[in-house]
Amino acid sequence: MSLLFPALHAASSHTALRFGERALSYRQLSAAASGLAIRLEPGAPVAVWATPSMETAVAVVAGLLAGVPVVPVNPRSGESELTHIVTDSAPGMVLAEPGAELPEPLGSLVRTDVDLSEEAVAATPIPPTEPNAEAPALIVYTSGTTGPPKGVVLSRRALASTLDALEEAWEWTADDVLVHGLPLFHVHGLILGVLGPLRRGGTLRHLGRFTSEGVVRELAGGGTMLFGVPTMYHRLADACASDPDLVRALAGARLLVSGSAALPLHDHERLTAATGQRVIERYGMTETLMNTSVRPGGTSRPGTVGLPLRDVDIRLMDDSQERIPAEDTETVGELQVRGPHLFTEYLGRPDATTEAFDGGWFRTGDMATRDADGSVRLVGRKATDLIKSGGFKIGAGEIENVLLGHPAVAEAAVTGEPDDDLGERIVAWIVPASPQQPPHQGELADLVAGQLAPHKRPREVRFLDALPRNDMGKILKKELPGQQG
Ligand code: ATP
Ligand code: MG
Repeated sequence: MSLLFPALHAASSHTALRFGERALSYRQLSAAASGLAIRLEPGAPVAVWATPSMETAVAVVAGLLAGVPVVPVNPRSGESELTHIVTDSAPGMVLAEPGAELPEPLGSLVRTDVDLSEEAVAATPIPPTEPNAEAPALIVYTSGTTGPPKGVVLSRRALASTLDALEEAWEWTADDVLVHGLPLFHVHGLILGVLGPLRRGGTLRHLGRFTSEGVVRELAGGGTMLFGVPTMYHRLADACASDPDLVRALAGARLLVSGSAALPLHDHERLTAATGQRVIERYGMTETLMNTSVRPGGTSRPGTVGLPLRDVDIRLMDDSQERIPAEDTETVGELQVRGPHLFTEYLGRPDATTEAFDGGWFRTGDMATRDADGSVRLVGRKATDLIKSGGFKIGAGEIENVLLGHPAVAEAAVTGEPDDDLGERIVAWIVPASPQQPPHQGELADLVAGQLAPHKRPREVRFLDALPRNDMGKILKKELPGQQG
């Protein structure tokens, strides 16, 4: 296989990474990462304490150059999650930024600090030997939205395949300057957000912490692309109302991309109205990397995640495991995907790996329909978002989109609860925009029934101060009061 990062080997003075005031050219990154790579022992995986820092990016690149599987660890993991990850992946060493305090059990591992001193970045890069394409490159833990995070083993082949498909879909080049403030321990922030620019020979400017001021600064200062999760775009849509500089910065970007969860229609509409830009949604998973994306030039309707990326095969399967024909744009089925972008296995869980596949097809657990042009419309997850009520299969996302359109609703989540008559009844969890003036329950129910259909009416509305969310802003439905899990 060709090199994962050709630009690293060309070692030019072009800026590869910038975090705040600190920047590294490709030559300097190559020197720092290859210097660290030769200190890594082949064999056991290496854990990376994945703070949103230059050190994290350099540590991951070093592991990839050395051919040692890299396990990025969320520095905000609780004790039990950390113990689970360390026990599960059994790293032989941990890489961290100097001064970072590592909790147990990471603290007991052999530790190497990432050296970004002047000497380290000025050293002569050491030409790496790239391992074979199928060797494990990264072990990334899933977001833990539906259960404990699973370790997903990703090969260099899978990384290259997804990044090259995105190059084609987004016309991503070495001239692009990507801006984001995503965490660096998941696919979105790390693989797309750090390895993406490096594979293209382009530039990443990381915000450290996401703020709308940071977005303005970096986009106005030359950024061409912005990656974010829906909660970030929601905040940007809010801020556009009072910040003309933000509106200008977003309007001037080449590409605004959202993923990791569904971007509510209301936020799509607000952002387009303010900036004239259409936010591009793409859909992926830790196990599959990227499956589909809306194409920047193409026609798209908000609410779809676009067409399959290059080399990605997609099929929809109904309840009796029959393929739903492409002409059928109504029937909801499970999305299954096939292609060179798929993961190798769940770490140490051969049974789970076997169960996840049907022949060569990976069962995503996501439910969808397909528009006439083949665009995928996600309805929600089989496990948490599909409500069976009165003989209908109802996707929570569709109802959430309507509720979020109500001016008195700040956040919304919809679940199903056991009901003697209906099988499941629809429950809406609402965070009011103003706690003093919560929207009227009947009004919300009528809004849904009017815009969608009477059987989609929430039977109960419950008010909360905030929805439980993880680091990616994903709603943790199992953590809503009284839910299972
Ligand atoms: P776990 O598997 O541990 O429960 P998770 O599935 O949230 O967590 P990830 O692999 O990070 O972990 O997320 C993949 C999921 O995110 C997809 O299966 C899908 O449900 C959701 N997702 C990703 N992109 C989008 C999108 N654009 N729109 C809607 N949902 C999305
Ligand atoms: Mg998952």
